[in-house]
Amino acid sequence: MYEEGVRRVVGAADRIAEYRAELANFADVLAGRGWGSEVSGVLDDTATRLATVEASYREVADAMQQQGDAGAAAHEQAPWVPDEVGGAAGLGVGVAPVELAPGVELTGESIADVAAAVAAAHSCVEPSCDVCAAWRGGYVLVAADLLTTYDEAPVVAQVRAKYARAGRDPLNAKDLDEDRKAWRIYSAQIRWRCRGCNGAIYADGWTPLACDCGSQELDEPGHGGPR
Ligand SMILES: [Zn+2]
Ligand SMILES: [Zn+2]
Repeated sequence: MYEEGVRRVVGAADRIAEYRAELANFADVLAGRGWGSEVSGVLDDTATRLATVEASYREVADAMQQQGDAGAAAHEQAPWVPDEVGGAAGLGVGVAPVELAPGVELTGESIADVAAAVAAAHSCVEPSCDVCAAWRGGYVLVAADLLTTYDEAPVVAQVRAKYARAGRDPLNAKDLDEDRKAWRIYSAQIRWRCRGCNGAIYADGWTPLACDCGSQELDEPGHGGPR
């Protein structure tokens, strides 16, 4: 089901691509009416900027896809496996932006930047980790919110603060609330419950055989109830 998260991010990239095509048409129309390079130059800059943003979305989608595939493949051989979200720290989102930390830049695309910040700030090997599960599933705002709640994630807070100062807080109440609602539905479908420790195991595309605590008494998603 992580494919759904990937699809959502790819969908955003596709919408940017459409807008870029419209912009190019618009530039042609203006050129046909004799508008000069003062105008078309600005449009070109915008198109270049959009191409960068589009590429950054596609990179995030690729990273999510790879994380999901790797998790599913590895879990076919082992009861649990490191998910290595931290390994996606080198997402390399964007070009020529402000670099806040290795792999974390301000590109102007707040969601992609938050996704990169979460990947850079968080590295763990826990199948019980909801931060990793949310990130992989494409619920970037939830992952960022959980991470800042649990953990010291100064780089995530930094990215957020930079955008918030410009009136574009990516974790604003409305968007975060929507992401949370979607995450609740998605996570209920992939969350197994361990009877041994009452812990959660997030398994999207694979079947857990045992919990980290050693127990093999696991309830399928939908049977354990939310924590
Ligand atoms: Zn994690
Ligand atoms: Zn357990």
